[in-house]
Amino acid sequence: FAKFNVFKQLSLFSVAVRVRPFNSRESNRGAKCIIQMQDKSTCIINPKQPKEAPKNFTFDYSYWSHNTEEDPLFASQRKVYQDIGEEMLLHAFEGYNVCIFAYGQTGAGKSYTMMGKQDPGQQGIIPQMCEDLFRQTAENADPDLSFSVEVSYMEIYCERVRDLLNPKSRGALRVREHPIMGPYVEDLSKMAVTNYSDIADLMDTGNKARTVAATNMNETSSRSHAVFTILFTQRRHDHMTNLDTEKVSKISLVDLAGSERADSSGAKGMRLKQGSKKRRSDFIPYRDSVLTWLLRENLGGNSRTAMIAALSPADINYEETLNRAKQIKCNA
Ligand code: ADP
Repeated sequence: FAKFNVFKQLSLFSVAVRVRPFNSRESNRGAKCIIQMQDKSTCIINPKQPKEAPKNFTFDYSYWSHNTEEDPLFASQRKVYQDIGEEMLLHAFEGYNVCIFAYGQTGAGKSYTMMGKQDPGQQGIIPQMCEDLFRQTAENADPDLSFSVEVSYMEIYCERVRDLLNPKSRGALRVREHPIMGPYVEDLSKMAVTNYSDIADLMDTGNKARTVAATNMNETSSRSHAVFTILFTQRRHDHMTNLDTEKVSKISLVDLAGSERADSSGAKGMRLKQGSKKRRSDFIPYRDSVLTWLLRENLGGNSRTAMIAALSPADINYEETLNRAKQIKCNA
């Protein structure tokens, strides 16, 4: 696979950082918060050199969750979805491929941001987007317009693709290329769904399959990428010509493997180069050719992409946090 060149096409790309609250272990040992946020700016303080000027970065969005909900910068799951998810869904309705991926150290909040929890107000981008998709298709009801939604959910671990909606399937699935539709995974389950509750059941099945694998295989989830894909088709009938026109959008929602693994494995990486309002060059340290191959379309021309970097607030994670921020900064 020509891993890196594929990202040299143009695409619109936005970058967010989100800092999670302290976990109980960090609170118990009196961890210090090394991140400050204001508007789009994020400052990272070196805990060993507190007098040194903090490193300052600008992102499209900086999400704070370290204090209470009274803090004006506090970013609820709803707020993150409204800023990033809603815009991406709008692009999907326009017919673009869209991709949101969460990047960062294990335990920094990637799964929380993408999937979240089932409790009220705790749902991540994926369930909120699915719910919104069906709500909007119902609102746009038109006798000449029909919609279809198909879902797949896979895990990529050590370059092997596993079907999370068919966990009994043995062995790795093959990645292939269709001349028109582009890269795809052979035999990956693609489930047609007609309402949110169908999709919620599938998410549940896939998340359980991922957890079981993580327990059996020594924390697979921190080393594997999870890719939830929604294939959204809008079909319009034209009475004059008696023809149907189709708009197909692929929505890829990706929870990347823990970034610390990628670094420690000395991985090369995939380079994302894009020209938007600002020209930026972002470097994601994954050597995985399967992931970059499959996301090729999402990071290329006809696509809109957002990345959310999950950060830990704790002093102990300073090096890792600083490295993530440097990698994805917008003011490069
Ligand atoms: P990762 O997927 O990056 O390994 P998780 O999403 O599992 O990390 O997050 C680790 C823990 O922190 C989980 O218990 C999660 O619920 C919690 N958490 C992460 N981000 C937030 C947040 N923004 N607000 C509240 N809790 C969070």
